[in-house]
Amino acid sequence: MHIHIFWDSLAPAGLQVPVARTISAITGVRATIGENPVRMMGYDQARKQINAPALLDGIHAYKRRQHLTDPVLLVVSQDLFRDGHSFVFGLARESVGAAVVSVARLKNQYYGKPDRDDDLVDRLIKEGAHEIGHLFGLGHCMVPECIMFRPDTLDELDRKKKMFCDECRVHLDRNKH
Ligand SMILES: [Zn+2]
Ligand SMILES: [Zn+2]
Repeated sequence: MHIHIFWDSLAPAGLQVPVARTISAITGVRATIGENPVRMMGYDQARKQINAPALLDGIHAYKRRQHLTDPVLLVVSQDLFRDGHSFVFGLARESVGAAVVSVARLKNQYYGKPDRDDDLVDRLIKEGAHEIGHLFGLGHCMVPECIMFRPDTLDELDRKKKMFCDECRVHLDRNKH
């Protein structure tokens, strides 16, 4: 079993390898990178955002067609939302092994600051590992440094470390097999 990371063509190129490598190191599960074969469903013209649950439906449909049971993480450029939330950094659906993260609000540029690839790679790793944690059955964690802490802001995301706390680590290792 391994994690399939699908990189949408609009997401920034060149960051795939460091993101996949570190997500693999943090989770202890091999991660592979590929171009995104999933149809980009759920775009909301008025909001200029993608409805994240609709996009997860698209991943689910692709997985069923391909008889793919491994977990999938899709990386997209467009901003994501779900009902009741103005935006989400990412979303996971454990029951179908599908997750999505967006780079839109992980870029400094979004907040009027100069972009740095290092910042973006760091945040993508944290968000990606977080959603994969959900795919392995982990809930949110109250430890602010833990990958499974749910950040509301970029500052809270940046405060997290690229690791699971001891309790989440035990839970993850138990569920991986
Ligand atoms: Zn979460
Ligand atoms: Zn934790």
